[in-house]
Amino acid sequence: MILEKYSMGIGDRFCRQGKAQLDAIFKAKQSGIDIVPVWNKSHREHSIIGTSPADTRLEADEAVKDRAWSDAYYVDADHINLSNVDLFIESSDFFTLDVADYIAQAPDPTNLKEFVANNRKYTGTLEIDGIDEAIVITESDIERIGAKFLLAVKEAAKIYRHIEKAKGAGNFITEVSVDESNEPQSPVEMLFILSAIAAEGIPAQTIAPKFTGRFNKGVDYVGDVAQFAKEFNQDIAVINFAIKEFSLPANLKLSIHSGSDKFSIYGSIREALQRFDAGVHLKTAGTTWLEELIGLAVAEGDGLQIAKDIYAHALTRYDELCKPYATVIDIDKARLPTPDEVAKWDGAAFASALRHDQSCAAYNLHFRQMLHLSYKIAAEMQDRFLDALAKYEDTIAPNVTENIYERHLRSIFRIDR
Ligand SMILES: [Zn+2]
Repeated sequence: MILEKYSMGIGDRFCRQGKAQLDAIFKAKQSGIDIVPVWNKSHREHSIIGTSPADTRLEADEAVKDRAWSDAYYVDADHINLSNVDLFIESSDFFTLDVADYIAQAPDPTNLKEFVANNRKYTGTLEIDGIDEAIVITESDIERIGAKFLLAVKEAAKIYRHIEKAKGAGNFITEVSVDESNEPQSPVEMLFILSAIAAEGIPAQTIAPKFTGRFNKGVDYVGDVAQFAKEFNQDIAVINFAIKEFSLPANLKLSIHSGSDKFSIYGSIREALQRFDAGVHLKTAGTTWLEELIGLAVAEGDGLQIAKDIYAHALTRYDELCKPYATVIDIDKARLPTPDEVAKWDGAAFASALRHDQSCAAYNLHFRQMLHLSYKIAAEMQDRFLDALAKYEDTIAPNVTENIYERHLRSIFRIDR
């Protein structure tokens, strides 16, 4: 199983928008850009919502059948580890091995010695195609990188072998993710992470580093765009080098997590992809759920009421909801509208505060982040929420499609129409 050049992770909290999501990918295809959809969902999301990996598979299969999609598509067991991978074996064919928790844990000293010995040949000045400046690498750099990442890669190998045993080699796509770590990884660190991945025999097709800057959930990038662009280009150059040097899969590419809504870096991403003729996996999760809220709000009546109730209830459980996302949100509580203010809004007011349109004065990124992590409240509403999704499908689906196509795909892949 070989992942295509361009792929998009279309996480969908409630597994109800598969068709509307696929419509966006279809539109890109009609405009000449082939992207394959990957329905990703993590164990964390499944447990908060009460869905199972089989629900994601069903959603994907149904959407593909309904829209007669004949290209490839995948179901991604997102951010799994050894403790929960078994739940995903049957329904998934894409596995994101999350080993960020193992970063900076000391590896076995013998393994570290072996790692340093294997990579000693890269000490001195290393030239990599596509990187202008010379890279100077010392043995202590290699040792430091090994000490930081080797155990994490060993853990990825354990998870990979576990899946390989169950599904058979070549029958699934492997991603290694270290994005949920405290510090970004430099291109040089990524080079040696890839060296370790290859030494373990993990046929990684995507790698998800933590990039420089903040990738907050559902809102724009915060950070130094020029620095991001520089490192993103270098990361691609490193990957191209690693594919040849370490015999990694030829289609190995970057996976950008929390990739939705990072509008200010899409230009840099697009230019880098063009420059290297590189592929990319853009992973999103949770913004489709915000489009569901927008669709409910603009439907007015009980749709709007549900959206308002979710917000009001979420505020009363602020700390609990923020906790799992503490490192990927920046909410200024003082900038959140009060439930009394929101109660007076019509659907259009609710939608324009929430919709990610930075040119709109009413857009409130604090409100948007707060609702982004409030899906637990909607899950607790059970049928009241799920029935409303069905009832207001006509106003929700166009928002879901437009968000993916207009604000994401068109900008990353420069689709004129
Ligand atoms: Zn991630």
